[in-house]
Amino acid sequence: MKILSVNAGSSSLKFQMYEMPEEQVLISGVFERIGIDGSFYTIKYNEEKIKKEIELKNHKEAFNILIKELKDYGVVENLNDIKGVGHRVVQGGSYFDKTVVVDDEVIAKIDELSSLAPLHNPAAITGIKASQEVMPSALQTVVFDTAFHQTMAEETYLYALPREWAEKYKIRRYGAHGTSHKYVSARANEILGRVNTKLITCHIGNGASISAVKDGKCINTSMGLTPNAGLIMGSRCGDIDATIVPYIMNTLKLKPSEIDTILNKESGLLGISGISSDSRDIEDGINKGNEDCILAQKMYVRRIVDYIAKYYVELGGCDAIVFTAGVGENSISTRREVLDGLEVLGVIVDEEANNVREKETKITKEESKIPAYIIPTDEELMIARDTYNLCI
Ligand code: AMP
Repeated sequence: MKILSVNAGSSSLKFQMYEMPEEQVLISGVFERIGIDGSFYTIKYNEEKIKKEIELKNHKEAFNILIKELKDYGVVENLNDIKGVGHRVVQGGSYFDKTVVVDDEVIAKIDELSSLAPLHNPAAITGIKASQEVMPSALQTVVFDTAFHQTMAEETYLYALPREWAEKYKIRRYGAHGTSHKYVSARANEILGRVNTKLITCHIGNGASISAVKDGKCINTSMGLTPNAGLIMGSRCGDIDATIVPYIMNTLKLKPSEIDTILNKESGLLGISGISSDSRDIEDGINKGNEDCILAQKMYVRRIVDYIAKYYVELGGCDAIVFTAGVGENSISTRREVLDGLEVLGVIVDEEANNVREKETKITKEESKIPAYIIPTDEELMIARDTYNLCI
């Protein structure tokens, strides 16, 4: 069965087509600069990558070209071969705790939640509507980044703010990266060979979050109402004293949009190092003895260790720590420093095994009290799996 996994941004459309249940990637690609001058798309098929420049006025045009390419490549014979299309949606609020089939009510709720994800939810709706128009016979589903975290208890997801804010203004912890945490925790359970497990999953990319997962269910996660909370990230500050915000707004006469930009785009590794949000550049800086990069990395690692320690206590132990996403899969030094910081819990890193990138690997020694693994994430596959399960 052919299932398409889709991630629509305001000017982009990423796709991956799967043969299910074999979980085989048939073709993938991305349309970029949709509705902007200089639009183009790239397609990956059989290890070959092609790039074509073409005017793309909107997402519907992108889907139409996609269908044509799928036919030209012989991936599908006709439209009806595509049985399901799964759309990634960033914010599902308290409405959605699982992947659902799209209907008018679902779209209305995604739209209602746009105030919580102003860049992402409207773009997802554009993608869903275009996909419905171009592929009316396919089952359209929505996979929410927040759904996996809906199992958190009230005392975990509420903030200690005026009680009615949660109800009236939807202010609570939702988390993010749920599709990734779900994927890697399921894979960790496969590796461990059981489902009753206590896992700490670290999705550390440009955006970063950590989840505590008990028996396959999320009990806590580091991101909050928005992805700004929790860990120090590439350019997001993570947890700070909330009163810094009104204080600095007053002092520098900043507008809400300006402070928002600073907290999300000019803080984190970038803010501290003054050099870059990319951990590769920070590593380069450290190798050259740059003090600001050394400090940024210390703070970055400290925060990850703190969250793992907190979740270790909350879970009442830990059967495995998982690293995933750009930094988690690639940064040998960050993983080593985090695991070294957990020595008091009996974690012993295996330097040789850890000397690897983007490969599923156990990176702790046999005698380590908690094993740690790299598990490359695959959010697209998770979307395809959920969509396939709703198709059969
Ligand atoms: P993601 O958001 O998961 O795509 O992760 C992107 C981030 O991963 C980049 O901004 C880098 O900080 C980090 N990254 C990617 N490759 C490497 C690498 N080889 N070494 C260290 N960090 C990396």
